[in-house]
Amino acid sequence: MSGKPIELLFATGNLHKVDEVKNILNSEVFKILSLAEFPDIPEIEETGKTFEENAFLKAGIIFKKFNIPVIADDSGLVVEQLNGAPGIFSSRYAGENATDEDNNKKLLEELENFPEPHFAKFVCFAVFFDGKNKITAEGELLGKIVKESKGVHGFGYDPIFVPEGYTKTLAEFLPEEKNKISHRAKAFKKLGEKLRDFYLSGKA
Ligand code: IMP
Repeated sequence: MSGKPIELLFATGNLHKVDEVKNILNSEVFKILSLAEFPDIPEIEETGKTFEENAFLKAGIIFKKFNIPVIADDSGLVVEQLNGAPGIFSSRYAGENATDEDNNKKLLEELENFPEPHFAKFVCFAVFFDGKNKITAEGELLGKIVKESKGVHGFGYDPIFVPEGYTKTLAEFLPEEKNKISHRAKAFKKLGEKLRDFYLSGKA
């Protein structure tokens, strides 16, 4: 592919996610734009029942507003002993305006009566929407929740999540290390490959 990179608007207000996905997808083929560069961003209520529904909800609203090809994701933490909670409610587990610390505290309280290890996984559902075509990809990162919060990098549940095969929390990984193994990296790498094929096929 030659010429100017294809611009994709990432429908998220989470600047950590923007950094992660820019690192994965920005190339001579794609240029990721952030909502921070656009005015009058619509409020998005995540009313879907699945990660996929919520991801398309975000993509649809942002496409309708700005009319350029959009990528979006919905992601969260799925904990085995809690029957999949917090799942799609990960960002608001401790309430509507909960901080990451509030959510982590609530999760550790919920797990207090369960024996270790607390097996868990991060899930990311990444989507593309251009008003007509829908393309999707998923990624997972297996691991466990630990009681002691450690590390300063990343966001969300990173300080209490230890990926399978490691002894440190995700918040102790440097951003570029996290980006090699994360659920979001896996989902957006796959989405990027599908998008290259899509644009090369001339269907766009
Ligand atoms: P979303 O913005 O609706 O996709 O909500 C994602 C929520 O899931 C975040 O607010 C975090 O609580 C959690 N989450 C998703 N991905 C990660 C991650 O990479 N690290 C830590 N927490 C994450």
